[in-house]
Amino acid sequence: MPQILVTNQKPSIEAPRLGEPYLLTPGPLTTAFSVKEAMLRDWGSWDGDFRAMTAQLRTELLEMVGDSDQQFDCVPIQGSGTFVVEAMLASFLPRDSKTLVLVNGAYGKRTAETLRYLGRDHVVIDKGDYLPPRGDEVAAALKADPVISHVIVIHCETSSGILNPIQEISEVVYGAGRKLLIDSMSAFGALPVDVETVRYEAIVSSANKCIEGVPGFGFVIGRKSELEQAKGRSHSLCLDVHAQWQTMNTTGQWRFTPPTHVVAAFMEALRLHREEGGVHGRGQRYSNNRDVLVAGMRELGFETLLTEPWLSPIIVTFFNPVHDAFEFKSFYDAMKARGFIIYPGKLTIVDSFRIGCIGHMDAAVMQRVVQAAKDVLAEMGVDDASPPEIALQERAKLSA
Ligand SMILES: *Cc1c(COP(=O)(O)O)cnc(C)c1O
Repeated sequence: MPQILVTNQKPSIEAPRLGEPYLLTPGPLTTAFSVKEAMLRDWGSWDGDFRAMTAQLRTELLEMVGDSDQQFDCVPIQGSGTFVVEAMLASFLPRDSKTLVLVNGAYGKRTAETLRYLGRDHVVIDKGDYLPPRGDEVAAALKADPVISHVIVIHCETSSGILNPIQEISEVVYGAGRKLLIDSMSAFGALPVDVETVRYEAIVSSANKCIEGVPGFGFVIGRKSELEQAKGRSHSLCLDVHAQWQTMNTTGQWRFTPPTHVVAAFMEALRLHREEGGVHGRGQRYSNNRDVLVAGMRELGFETLLTEPWLSPIIVTFFNPVHDAFEFKSFYDAMKARGFIIYPGKLTIVDSFRIGCIGHMDAAVMQRVVQAAKDVLAEMGVDDASPPEIALQERAKLSA
């Protein structure tokens, strides 16, 4: 059993002051009051004060990947996370490239769909709902097709919560002389992606996940030599990472209206992230959240889709109880009435729901989530939360 700390690690974790429910979802998520408060003033996008924020934001994000050789740069892009994934793909993949997409959920599928829109050649290894893509099968696919130039992997596949083995995959990709891109949208800022430990050409994330900002922009951290070569590649003016990078480096400005308030909120989110001990501290709080949640829910009889080591500290999938009196919609509504917004599941074979561990909340909140689930089950007349047998058979396919 992992050691579980139930005490508040930081006094700065306080309940939502506006009485709104906790968002136990993978972004947008619950943010600190001071993050919301930082949006209460206006900024001129051309003004030196705002340009200083942009510069600082880029520097701090770069520090999170431990790029001591200064081979990488950080390029923020307006829009939601998907805009930034598309920007990365269009800018880092040459038009004549062929990409192997590792799919085990909705976000992997979306990446393949984006490549279809972009007209970039690609093949897919699809592992279904949640099984992890492994190094040996990636190696075999690369060996079988020498034309494949790039591989893209999802770090934490948020649709199941699985933590994909990016380091194992990176070693195989570079061992075969190919290049890796990573969608670390839901993991960056809480799980390490140190460039000296995991090799890649570019990685993406957004403001409203583990850094705990509000939605409005994302960022690409890419190798400078690749950023140079990206010139003229993008099909899109707005999503051209090279052009955004060049403009930011020469003028300090975003090319088009930046989400100024979102950036101001993000600066406060970065300050809280630093104060908590950076990637390590943030990752610890989330792991602790997960441990308290999973232990408590298991005690109620719930079973998780994933077992260690695949269970991420980002979001956890639970099987719906097989009990006749259980109905997700009523469970959801009753949880919401108690102040907790949960998330429906995405598995095709068995019914499930998800609970996020990320956002401005700690183990004490997760204990209240478990208590609320217990009360709701009692109210519904569900005295046994165990899943159908088929769910456990399904899970047995997952070997470490
Ligand atoms: C959240 C997320 C995205 C981006 O989703 P948006 O809704 O466009 O912000 C992409 N990939 C993963 C793995 C995610 O979790």
